[in-house]
Amino acid sequence: MNGINSPVEKINFNGFELYVKRDDLLSHDFSGNKARKFLYFLEHDFPKVKKLVSYGSAQANSLYSLAVLAQQKRWQLDFYVNHIASYLKNNPVGNYKAALDLGANIIEKKDAKGSIHEYVFQHIDSKDETLLFLEEGGRVKKAQYGIEKLAQEIIQWAKDKEIENLEVMLPSGTGTTALFLQKYLPFKVLTCPCVGDKEYLMSQFRHLEPNLQNYPTVLIPKKKYHFGKLYTEFYELYKMLKKETHIEFELLYDPLGFLTLQEYLKDKKEQSVTLYIHQGGVLGNPSMCERYERKISF
Ligand SMILES: *Cc1c(COP(=O)(O)O)cnc(C)c1O
Repeated sequence: MNGINSPVEKINFNGFELYVKRDDLLSHDFSGNKARKFLYFLEHDFPKVKKLVSYGSAQANSLYSLAVLAQQKRWQLDFYVNHIASYLKNNPVGNYKAALDLGANIIEKKDAKGSIHEYVFQHIDSKDETLLFLEEGGRVKKAQYGIEKLAQEIIQWAKDKEIENLEVMLPSGTGTTALFLQKYLPFKVLTCPCVGDKEYLMSQFRHLEPNLQNYPTVLIPKKKYHFGKLYTEFYELYKMLKKETHIEFELLYDPLGFLTLQEYLKDKKEQSVTLYIHQGGVLGNPSMCERYERKISF
């Protein structure tokens, strides 16, 4: 994906005109914000490293991207998870299946005491130079290397289009992508917390960059949603977006991103142009859709 600029499309969303940065189209296997966050590791040499270690959910988008990264670098991937649901073990799908197919070693913590983070560090030697450990979801400083490239693409696009009053919107998990985009963009970056609340997200920002002048603007969703839970309005919005824009968005973060953006645009007085970042992750959609269909038919 080196040097490839993801395209930008104009869409109409519930009466609002927006642009979408299609980072989901970066490349077939290494796309979305995980590709941006892990670009540093793809493009640099690590002569001593033999194994990549991380942790997270068995369905995480980062699991698949790390498996692709490990394959390209000829590293083993050890990915620790709290638990793998038995239906998933018996019928592997999505990110989990794709990672297994790439040879990822997915290790279950099961009932062991303590946090998953503690569990990982009980099982690895943190001084072992053949191991490269990455925090959950790519919450690492080196992520800024690839995100700066994304920022430069946006700056160039806005310049070509002669857009000055740009606002960039993307939903956050760890907040790493939004934080580093704001660091490198002269435009306002808007985000919303999808995991935890505003205070949690702000603390994640400060943890990564304690002395940054500007942090992203955190929009607060009207309703409280729990990450990974099914909400009919999320699925409706996903289907509506697909029908209206012919773009497949992701089902965990994007629905909340669009709902929150819609509230913000409704109340907004000043004129501006909005660019929404499509952060990929659609490999997890078929199993999410299946869960939604089952919920609806129930
Ligand atoms: C990982 C992910 C996010 C969250 O990214 P952060 O940098 O952790 O905030 C958002 N959307 C999609 C589709 C993702 O895969």
